[in-house]
Amino acid sequence: MNRKMILGFVAGVVITVGLLVSVPDSIVQVATGTTQDTSMETALSPTKALPDRDAYFPGTEDLLPDEMRITACGTGMPSARPKQAAACFLVELGNGDKFLFDIGSGSHERIAAMKIPYDFLDKVFIGHLHVDHYGDLPTFWLGGTVMNRLTPLRIWGPSGSKPEYGTQYAMDRMQEMYTWDIGTRSGVVDFRGGELEVNEFPFDGVNAVIYDENDVVIRSIPAVHGLDGAVSFILEWNGLKFVYGSDTYPNKWFIEHAKGADFAIHECFLPPTLLVTKQGFGPLEALTVGTQGHTSPEQFGKVMSLVEPRIAVAYHFYNDFDIEPEVRDRVRKTYDGPLSTAVDYMVWNVTKDNIKVRMAAKDEEVWPSPALKEKIAPDFRDAINFSEFTLSGMENFPEVVEPLYEEINKKYGTDFKPGL
Ligand SMILES: [Zn+2]
Ligand SMILES: [Zn+2]
Repeated sequence: MNRKMILGFVAGVVITVGLLVSVPDSIVQVATGTTQDTSMETALSPTKALPDRDAYFPGTEDLLPDEMRITACGTGMPSARPKQAAACFLVELGNGDKFLFDIGSGSHERIAAMKIPYDFLDKVFIGHLHVDHYGDLPTFWLGGTVMNRLTPLRIWGPSGSKPEYGTQYAMDRMQEMYTWDIGTRSGVVDFRGGELEVNEFPFDGVNAVIYDENDVVIRSIPAVHGLDGAVSFILEWNGLKFVYGSDTYPNKWFIEHAKGADFAIHECFLPPTLLVTKQGFGPLEALTVGTQGHTSPEQFGKVMSLVEPRIAVAYHFYNDFDIEPEVRDRVRKTYDGPLSTAVDYMVWNVTKDNIKVRMAAKDEEVWPSPALKEKIAPDFRDAINFSEFTLSGMENFPEVVEPLYEEINKKYGTDFKPGL
């Protein structure tokens, strides 16, 4: 060892010994969550949990009684991409209620990553019937039945200018579309979670109450998007106001009724220049889609400068390292208030005093949470039988299957026997 190394070694010993002798009892309390000790000793402890985390780890954090947690489960476009699912925001309230606003294509896996038992995920509000706003409803509805949701799924969505454009029509056809899927489950699994409760409300209600339960009130306002039959939502609870635009051109209802929101989400589309260079649009098409069909970043900023929320949330664009700065610069031409440009897995904790923004740490290998209710054994007489033709193709391999039954019977004290 040269002299420098020896000095370094000695210094290291001194620091280590210093830590060992100064560890207070409170560190043990921090590990059990009873004390928030932010002293230097705690922060540097090599073996105990840190009191503060910069990421949200789903399923590991209490939600305070007066707190709202919002998670972006989809912030992108109709185009599929690994980084961003299409529109979906999860709202969790300190009273235990949870709500999904839109459930666009690709969003279900983000919802599952939040590790919430599916019986609590039973309320979905659809702002309009574009596929990027409810494309994952079938997988959430039917997939949810095998993810231990034993509670009917409740859907709220707008009417249209005629019945065929309304939510009820779409839900009826969705159930028809999955007739075969539902048939496979009849008499085979507890299918209570497959029941749908559809609540269609008039698309032209202005600040009309569409939900009022458990001190949570949700209102709808008309949106200008696609066809008649697009809406935005306003959720109010415990003095907090959450607004979700779904898709909309800037409109007077949003500006009036979102006013002063604690949390306001509004679409913020790619600027027309990027629609040309990155999306392959022609210039006129880009201007039409980017400023007439959707809301450009400058228009988004203008809306938010009139609404003046505690935080404005922009979504519905490809939020990449080379795109976000330009979108943000354009928003800043017309709005200088608090702003998040949302990406998937962004999480906001909102109270009356504070808004905390973090990213969720996702577990790629998430499993469904256990059922909260006791499962009702299905009546096998309700099962739809195979034809003789299909049955004739089965290879039963009893020498392989019987040991599997014996293994389960031995472990759980049962007496099941192979056979359909
Ligand atoms: Zn849309
Ligand atoms: Zn959309």
